[in-house]
Amino acid sequence: MDANVGIVGVGTMGSMALWQLARRGVSVMGFEQFGIGHDQSAAGGETRIFRTAYKEGAAYIPILQEAYKQWRELESETGNQLLTLTKGLTIGEPGLKSMKNVMKSIEEYDLEHEILHYEEAKKHYPQHRLLPNEMIIVDHNAGFLRPQYAIVSAVYRAKELGAIVHNHTHVEKIQSETDGVSIVANGQKYKVGKLLITTGPWINQHINDFDKQIEVRRLINTWFFARDLKQFDESQFPPFTREGNNFSYYGIPAVDSYMVKIGLAASSEDRIKSPNDLDRNIKMGDLSSVKEIVGRDLPNLFEDPGRVSVYMEAYTKDKNSVVGWLPGHDNIAVLSGFSGHGFKMAPAIGKIGADLVLDENIPFSIGRLSPDRFADTQTSW
Ligand SMILES: Cc1cc2nc3c(=O)[nH]c(=O)nc-3n(C[C@H](O)[C@H](O)[C@H](O)COP(=O)(O)OP(=O)(O)OC[C@H]3O[C@@H](n4cnc5c(N)ncnc54)[C@H](O)[C@@H]3O)c2cc1C
Repeated sequence: MDANVGIVGVGTMGSMALWQLARRGVSVMGFEQFGIGHDQSAAGGETRIFRTAYKEGAAYIPILQEAYKQWRELESETGNQLLTLTKGLTIGEPGLKSMKNVMKSIEEYDLEHEILHYEEAKKHYPQHRLLPNEMIIVDHNAGFLRPQYAIVSAVYRAKELGAIVHNHTHVEKIQSETDGVSIVANGQKYKVGKLLITTGPWINQHINDFDKQIEVRRLINTWFFARDLKQFDESQFPPFTREGNNFSYYGIPAVDSYMVKIGLAASSEDRIKSPNDLDRNIKMGDLSSVKEIVGRDLPNLFEDPGRVSVYMEAYTKDKNSVVGWLPGHDNIAVLSGFSGHGFKMAPAIGKIGADLVLDENIPFSIGRLSPDRFADTQTSW
């Protein structure tokens, strides 16, 4: 046996599971096809929003609150600043489902917040051009994370605690056996007791029939220069999501005193067949919507992005992630399908992954995230 637990994919969730297992003294071995902290997948682009008042549903809040604690623990174990709280804005008309969800989560969990109606909102956040029927919900437990730095921090801390990581090592084959799980990576065979699959957008390459349930989407992030940079630093311009009837986009302040990041939520139109088909080239059509939005809603940014980068992510149909045992197996668990909103939860998801493979009690209700909900899925290996 090479390790008690193996982890395939040391990106966002894999790095956090590695750290969570290593800090419990478990022998753990991770396999990553690229370098640690790379920007080829779901965690690239320097920043991620952390929010607690959650438009995706109040059911996530216990996990988000645990994630907050875990981010602070990772920071104190490594001495690295990973999460900066700045407050966070959700902007939109009060009647939208996403706005109602945010309000519901605030009410259910008594979250610290403010509500700013049009006149007041304009005064506080003049960078946003608002419509008179829009409001801003200010979430006090929100800010931004440093994703690639967080992955590197978790992996190096895990290594200090005894974890073994093979980077630039592509896992080609996974085989469940009666006494463990065998893995072939870069042509070499390894054996582990239990396995966590955390391959993000590559998930369908290992679990064939998940491709009916999980799709890979191409996401573009754009960075814009500001006419007056001071207005857009993190003290003046908190991370935000702006919601509409047929759009949703988000922004992150100029955290390195340089450019403001804007991203559009992905839809099924952004689907790609496989992560290996990801086109990183930018075409004019890729930028038309974001340029229109910036021109319309953020007039103090220059309309042409100074930087554009392409990433990808695994989406489920219900936008809930996939966390649990692979159907029909008690030695392989999956953490995947984070549907564009998983980074903020990562250390809590890593903890849940560790609890799963160690057969420990999971103090959250994760039934709705179970791969069992893909009832017609036949796992094939
Ligand atoms: C542009 C963009 C913006 C986002 N913004 C936010 C945000 O603001 N806030 C938020 O909370 N979330 C956000 N998300 C979502 C969040 O970043 C993802 O949910 C999260 O990073 C997914 O993590 P993962 O571990 O599933 O995938 P990854 O982080 O991609 O990890 C998968 C890893 O598996 C490795 N791998 C795959 N196959 C193999 C193999 N065969 N052998 C070895 N290694 C393998 C990959 O190389 C990769 O390192 C955003 C996502 C994107 C793409």
